[in-house]
Amino acid sequence: MASDSIHLYGDPILRTRGEAVREFGPPLVAIGEAMIKTMHKANGIGLAAPQFGLALQLFVVDVDDPEHPIILDGKKVPADLVMPLVLANPKLTILEGPAKICSEGCLSFPGITGEVERIEKVRVDYSDTEGKPHALEAQGLLARCLQHEFDHCQGVLFIDRMTRAHQILVASKVKKLQRQTAAELKALKKKNA
Ligand SMILES: [Zn+2]
Repeated sequence: MASDSIHLYGDPILRTRGEAVREFGPPLVAIGEAMIKTMHKANGIGLAAPQFGLALQLFVVDVDDPEHPIILDGKKVPADLVMPLVLANPKLTILEGPAKICSEGCLSFPGITGEVERIEKVRVDYSDTEGKPHALEAQGLLARCLQHEFDHCQGVLFIDRMTRAHQILVASKVKKLQRQTAAELKALKKKNA
């Protein structure tokens, strides 16, 4: 079981593609609850399993965007009724352009933000904690968050998708974080050896 601290950039797990979730029911419910707790504690709107130390196709989101109601299993519902959500084995489908450039951050990159281009409307097919399949259509902030968290499960990070100008702007901060995390992991390994 992973710890409740968030894994930072420089930790190789963030570059690991998650394995499919195969065990549903109480163990997955417990992981989902622990991830939601960790996300809320960090004031985040999304957290993916690799950030939680688990290389799995799994993420949680909590986005209440009253401007954009969501469509869950074909029905329009207010987001606050279903959030927070645990999504296992997500499949992302791009529904509509145009892409929009917005400033984005990530809990694995404290203090680092940059502009990222994302599609406005997406669909995610996923399983809930009981293994039941669902289809979620979202726009705006939730659509952005779903794309960000889906990427995490593939080992793709927001710095990869950042505009070139912003990649250059944050490059030294990113490198510093990577070095710091790698040094901390090395020290921890030595301590536990
Ligand atoms: Zn992130």
